[in-house]
Amino acid sequence: MPDIMKPTPLAPTYEPSRLRIEQTDITKLATTAIVNAANSSLLGGGGVDGAIHRAGGPEILEECRKIRARQGGCKTGEAVITTGGRLPAGYVIHTVGPVWNGGLKGEPELLASCYRNSLRIAAEHKLDSVGFPGISTGIYGYPKEEAAAIAVREVQQWLAAHEWPKEVVLVAFDGQARQLYERQLASGS
Ligand code: ADP
Repeated sequence: MPDIMKPTPLAPTYEPSRLRIEQTDITKLATTAIVNAANSSLLGGGGVDGAIHRAGGPEILEECRKIRARQGGCKTGEAVITTGGRLPAGYVIHTVGPVWNGGLKGEPELLASCYRNSLRIAAEHKLDSVGFPGISTGIYGYPKEEAAAIAVREVQQWLAAHEWPKEVVLVAFDGQARQLYERQLASGS
């Protein structure tokens, strides 16, 4: 066809990064959902789990109890969703990370499943934005650098293949965690 009749190609649209790092307390994050590093009982615990239940109020635990009654808790690597109660986030996606046990007990695959299953729930509910804590990197003892590499890789792979969620925030609770995430992003993993 003569050049003059060819449709003008659209200028490539700039898509701002859908993955960002934020150093904050996740209970303050105003994403559509935040992820909780829960335990398999879903009845609350220490660390980020305790902070989320304290800040979100009893409604979250009520829904967790209903899920327990229905399906008996949540297995390692899996995820369930509840209200966010009084949190700025509308929903909490509870996922159960693996306890670090030397690294040869399937921990990397289970941790990757936590990210994938949480993102799948977010996509199924068409949630705009989701914030993740460093699942398993506290009481469960997962080495922070390896965990950051898995988090960045799984989120990037998910976003490259899916429309939802539109944005993911990896929440660093301290400067060390932020640096680990930033290094993973910069290394283009
Ligand atoms: P796990 O049992 O899965 O290891 P923890 O709650 O002990 O879960 O810790 C998971 C991560 O969450 C740790 O890196 C910890 O520093 C971080 N963390 C703890 N409290 C908060 C919070 N309020 N906001 C964001 N991250 C938090």
